[in-house]
Amino acid sequence: MYRQAVDSRPADKPFRFYDGPPFATGLPHYGHLLASITKDVGPRYWTMRGYRVERRWGWDCHGLPVEVEAEQQLGLKTRADIIDFGVSEFNEFCREVVLKYTSEWETLIQRMGRWVDWDRQYRTMDTDFMESVWWVFKSLWDKGLIYEGYKSLAYCPRCATPLSNFEVNQGYQDTQDPSVTVRFKVRGEENLSILAWTTTPWTLASNMGLAVGEGLDYARVTMKHGERLILARARMDVVFAKQKDDIATVDEQSVDELLAMTYEPLFDYFEGLREEGAFRVVAADFVSVEDGTGIVHIAPGFGEEDFKLGQLVGLPTVCPIDADCKFTDEVKDYEGQFVKDVDTPVIRRLRDSAQLFAESTIVHSYPFCWRCDSPLIYRNISTWFVKVEGELKEKMIAANQQIGWVPEHIRDGRFGKWLEGARDWAISRNRYWGTPLPIWRNEETGEAVCVGSAAELQELTGQNVDDLHKHRIDTLEIPSPSGNGMLQRVPEVLDCWFESGSMPYAQNHYPFGRPEDFEASFPADFISENLDQTRGWFYTLTILAAALFDKPAFKNCIVGGMLLAEDGRKLSKRLRNYPDPTEMLEKYGADALRLYLLNSPAMKAEELRLSENGMNQSLRDVIIPLWNAYSFFVTYANIDGWMPERVKDVESSHQLDRWIVSELQTLLHDINTEMEAYRLYRTVPAMVAFVEKLTNWYIRRSRRRFWKSEDDTDKASAYATLYQVLVTFSKALAPVLPFVTEQIYQNLVRAQDSNAPPSIHLCDMPQADERLRDGELEEQMQLATRAVVLGRSLRSKNDLKVRQPLRTLYLLPPDEHSREELMEMRDLITDELNIKEIVMVEDETDLSDVSYKPDFKVLGPRFGKQMKEVGARVNALTADEIASLRKGERIAVAGGEIALEDLEVQRKEKDGLVVAIDNNLAVGLDVILDDELIDECTARELVSRIQNMRKEAGFDVSDRIAVGVQGDSKLESATNKHLKYVAGETLAEAVVVGEIPDDCGVRLETTVNGFHGTLALRKISA
Ligand SMILES: [Zn+2]
Repeated sequence: MYRQAVDSRPADKPFRFYDGPPFATGLPHYGHLLASITKDVGPRYWTMRGYRVERRWGWDCHGLPVEVEAEQQLGLKTRADIIDFGVSEFNEFCREVVLKYTSEWETLIQRMGRWVDWDRQYRTMDTDFMESVWWVFKSLWDKGLIYEGYKSLAYCPRCATPLSNFEVNQGYQDTQDPSVTVRFKVRGEENLSILAWTTTPWTLASNMGLAVGEGLDYARVTMKHGERLILARARMDVVFAKQKDDIATVDEQSVDELLAMTYEPLFDYFEGLREEGAFRVVAADFVSVEDGTGIVHIAPGFGEEDFKLGQLVGLPTVCPIDADCKFTDEVKDYEGQFVKDVDTPVIRRLRDSAQLFAESTIVHSYPFCWRCDSPLIYRNISTWFVKVEGELKEKMIAANQQIGWVPEHIRDGRFGKWLEGARDWAISRNRYWGTPLPIWRNEETGEAVCVGSAAELQELTGQNVDDLHKHRIDTLEIPSPSGNGMLQRVPEVLDCWFESGSMPYAQNHYPFGRPEDFEASFPADFISENLDQTRGWFYTLTILAAALFDKPAFKNCIVGGMLLAEDGRKLSKRLRNYPDPTEMLEKYGADALRLYLLNSPAMKAEELRLSENGMNQSLRDVIIPLWNAYSFFVTYANIDGWMPERVKDVESSHQLDRWIVSELQTLLHDINTEMEAYRLYRTVPAMVAFVEKLTNWYIRRSRRRFWKSEDDTDKASAYATLYQVLVTFSKALAPVLPFVTEQIYQNLVRAQDSNAPPSIHLCDMPQADERLRDGELEEQMQLATRAVVLGRSLRSKNDLKVRQPLRTLYLLPPDEHSREELMEMRDLITDELNIKEIVMVEDETDLSDVSYKPDFKVLGPRFGKQMKEVGARVNALTADEIASLRKGERIAVAGGEIALEDLEVQRKEKDGLVVAIDNNLAVGLDVILDDELIDECTARELVSRIQNMRKEAGFDVSDRIAVGVQGDSKLESATNKHLKYVAGETLAEAVVVGEIPDDCGVRLETTVNGFHGTLALRKISA
């Protein structure tokens, strides 16, 4: 059916959709389901609008998630383990595990009702895909956008690879670290030290300098025991909190003098670097007095600012650790130990040598590897970059302005800000399973060649190339173009985000396959993923499209919100703090889950706390009522033998029919307008509101028209209207609730007309017929429903069931126009609220006794001692004076003036009347009951009892019956008084009052409106 839906639309009218590829190494979670549903609704809608919407599924197959899974399965713990195991074997194993859960994905995605093309799925590990990634890389290389650089990057010691800064941003956690303050002895001075602070003691072995702020005030503190210490004046209170009493004198320390100082390194490993500029005090603009001592320990090998400063002022860089972040033999005391494990021994050693001034711990926000949870190490490393800063960034910012984001604030907010702060993108990973960087180089001469295709590599090496993975091409050498030996491939592979960002080109094997396929599909009209992708897929798509084509990669994007557990915590597989999706699908159905997510704040990129109750509510409040509306129609249409072809000759003049048709047209208008702008967060609530209007108002108010036995025009128009509304509404709803709408369509349309499209999803999206819209009528009905809601609330507050008729309803509308509108609706309101008459009143004094008291809070300050006089005056206001106050006039009192807002209004409902007010509409209900009203209620309750008995006895809705009623005199007299009504409502041909006929087999002893009695009935055979 999916294929048919795609192919039924013309190929020259494409709607372009891209799928962001998930990893198949894990099972799909709610975040995937949310994105999947949004990604389904858009294409379904545009298909119904006549567009051909291809929906190719994609898989992310490379990268750390896969490697981590493989390592776990193989029991490999370190890089060395992988080398021992064999890169070739390791990669082939990755190839096997990568698609581990594809069948689970397919099952769940299909169960959700998402339509995708599984047959033409793209996989980032396929040779065609990888070859296009090479083309992307080579294009950037040719544009001079690729460079290799030493940079300080966040590096995962376990994964042994740097992370890009958007990956780092995903993994901040609060963590405890040591906090130590250390003495650096100033050279050539007796007993003088500089205090510096760090939370990474292991980096002290690589210290190359101390940085001070040129604009800061420094102090030289002399202790009573003679030691002298230098630090920022603003930090003294904190740093000397415990040694306050040991301070002898405090002198000013000039910055110039500080900047001329050199010091003894804490360790002697790099003593020799003093000649190259190490171990001196330098100035830096990032030094602050917010924490530490106002003097910063600088290790250019570990930390971005440190490295930049080192480059700027000429401090040497040392980075004496290996790929696994263990010390090398340059730091012989700790050789082979993991850096973080060295913190404690370093502190101990500093304490023993009296270089430690103070130690404690600190809890701060620190980045962890998003994949394996190891704390990241900022270290200096050689990495390949895409040069984002500069011209490319400007292109990205311009491209972003062309994207329609939903919600709109993403453009200049979260995404726009991210782009503005964009840094060069570290794209190489020191790993194995990924698209290799296509660079061959001679390490000694630096001569390098970038290869852009498999064919080119084949030509350059003379070897057959059918797989571009690392273990298959690393052995291939390229003869140096300048004739200087051979070039070898650089060892790194590409960040898997580079691959997902390349999918617009690579899924079509551009430019090697059919270039027209790509050209017809770029840029995408629509994509959707969740908020975290502003720094992931949305970002990498934008970088590459801007670099290659100076364009955005997509025109519209719905950003889904993050999903949380019901208690507001993160969803956690370990804690199982969310309902299992498969179970929820079984229990409530895909439509309910879809509706729940689509009708949630997640459609506006806001947080959603998942709750099973919410899914249940979608089912109960929307899907079941819709289904009931449909069943209601079918039940009566079957009884009456009504057929859809009778729709054609009916144009209803009935107010309710015209109203629901108008509401439907308005809904269609709104749906189409909002869907064109991708604002699902507005369309779905409007659909839900329509279900309420249809079931809780139109059908409930129209029931009688279907029940009645006469087959007149009124009945015909009720059928025709409900039929058309159900069919049209189902079509509009089909992209959101594909299952229930299909079922309704199959029975109401397809079963009647074999020429109709075989599925609702092959139908056209209905458009609003403006001629059928009647804004005035919609407004009237809305006002009437408001009056009814108020009336109902008064009934329930005063314990008056709806079956109990009441004498009078008073309405006080906000203005003349509403008065007229309510007059138009008076029959409907009296009927709905079971009221004998409606009285329109002119003034609230018709409903309540209104009196006024002085508002002491307002008047007190103004009149002071004269308040007594003012109070007396207010209490004595005449009706005329009050009327003039209410017109906005003022009255002179005690030398001043008072206005209406100076008074407190007190309302007391008139006897026998209750009043409710909402938004300027006041409703009063006469609650006095007389015998006549009570008898009527009794008769109505009797009818309801008999109807229930019929149902329980299994009679058909059209069966005729005989009834007997015997009991309290009040029950019998009420029955007699309303005999015709009771008989008519219950299809009774005979009603016997005062005795129970012997042949009435169905009996019930009960109370009716508080009166005891026995009811009996039997079916009269036709
Ligand atoms: Zn890691």
